Amino acid sequence: MTSIIAADGTTIRISGTGPPSDLLAVARESDVRAVAVGSTGVPALEPLVTVTNGGETAVHTDCSTAELDTVVASVSGGSDIRAAEPDAVVEHDPGTATLPPVDLPGLDVGRRRVLGAAGWRRPTDAADHEAAGGFDAPETTAVLDAGADLRGRGWGDLCQDEPLAPTWETTRDADGDPTVVVNAHGNPTDALLLASAPFDVLEGATAAAEAVGADGVIVYASTADERAVETVRAAAANYPDPPVAIDVVTGPAEHRAAEPTMALEAIEGNHRLEARIRPPGPESVGLHGQPTLVHTPRTLANLAVALREGEADTRTVTVEGDVAAPATVELAASDTLSTAVDAVDVDGEFKAACVGGRFGGLTADLDVAVGPAALSAADLGTEGVVQVLADDRCVLEFVGQRTQFAADENCGRCVPCREGTTQLAELLRDIYDGTYAPADIRELVRVMDGSSICAFGVEAGRPARTAVAEFEAELQAHADGDCPTDSCPQPAEVT
Ligand code: SF4
Repeated sequence: MTSIIAADGTTIRISGTGPPSDLLAVARESDVRAVAVGSTGVPALEPLVTVTNGGETAVHTDCSTAELDTVVASVSGGSDIRAAEPDAVVEHDPGTATLPPVDLPGLDVGRRRVLGAAGWRRPTDAADHEAAGGFDAPETTAVLDAGADLRGRGWGDLCQDEPLAPTWETTRDADGDPTVVVNAHGNPTDALLLASAPFDVLEGATAAAEAVGADGVIVYASTADERAVETVRAAAANYPDPPVAIDVVTGPAEHRAAEPTMALEAIEGNHRLEARIRPPGPESVGLHGQPTLVHTPRTLANLAVALREGEADTRTVTVEGDVAAPATVELAASDTLSTAVDAVDVDGEFKAACVGGRFGGLTADLDVAVGPAALSAADLGTEGVVQVLADDRCVLEFVGQRTQFAADENCGRCVPCREGTTQLAELLRDIYDGTYAPADIRELVRVMDGSSICAFGVEAGRPARTAVAEFEAELQAHADGDCPTDSCPQPAEVT
């Protein structure tokens, strides 16, 4: 099929997190061109149907088959795309390769650069990606220059918050045959990119392979992300003349399986996942003993887009938790967390956010930029996930659950994490019994942070540390026998 970018006539796009087979069937009964595209990252609006004609697109949110029937009948009858009473209409460049900003919650926030293909281009159709400027193999020097400017995204990336180029240099100079691993495990934006924009991810991976002289790319994802895996497999099969071999493998859904060295263990087929001691890191001795780059889809999609369009410092943020529906948005690094949270409906009054994934930092202050420097300075995490806590949420219960999770799920390889998470959970339980020891909590977390082998243990104490710093009055209230939100279970129930 030819590209749907700037195609003549009317194009109906059906966007959602699942295969929209019912809606597609309705649309395809007509003579109107109808295609399935991936999720936009804003599932509250989906199924999302867009009707594009030239430089104008009508948007129908939460579209039923009956509503689509009306849309199709209207367009087939030659009516204006506005006739079927869309929720919004947007005018744009007729050749736009990305969903234009729409005045709807979640789609009116930030910009769509790395998320550009999501909800607009067919995920597995090479013609759409090519029409968007893809598959234009860059010069190696251009890739190396881009790698000098770009920093890794997410805790699953070997270069989290660090420039890529020094690690690439080590890999290139190491003995052995390099491999590039695309670590898509455990992050919602990474799963979204595999399901909605897989060619950008694969193109970034092949560029990184070129930079280090690798002859293979392995995409690694959780077994839980079925649609992402299925889509990236199809995209890999459709990749025109891939410069390197591309394989897709899955690993267990456990949180720790996203840690880069445990990801390598899973890819090698080892059932017991333990982090590897560094140095040497995977960039020197990685998969099957060979030098291995491990980057997330976010990092690689940023690389691909930077090579096509030039570097622009954007960050993807997924907002979830006590919200009507999660949303993933792309913001400038200088935009604040409040801009991201504005993309969702909070269930109740906003109280706090856990910023940075499962072991993020707690804050009530959303006036913090989403770039890594500002987040780190505020003791918040850079994983690109913000969990909203509404006003009926107890901070102590939340932190207790996160800490107990760390105690249950760590790999057990090092003492600071294995014993530290258990002791930290006990210190938090002691608060219910009237003993609140903030100095002990801070000291234990300092030891875990400073001496754990991998990022799991380094970050596992952050929810507790930031709760002590930001919500001391609420923790002290529990020690005095009062849960301010009246929602706290007994310690034995905190799991
Ligand atoms: S920090 Fe935790 S998860 Fe990482 S190696 Fe140590 S015990 Fe395992």
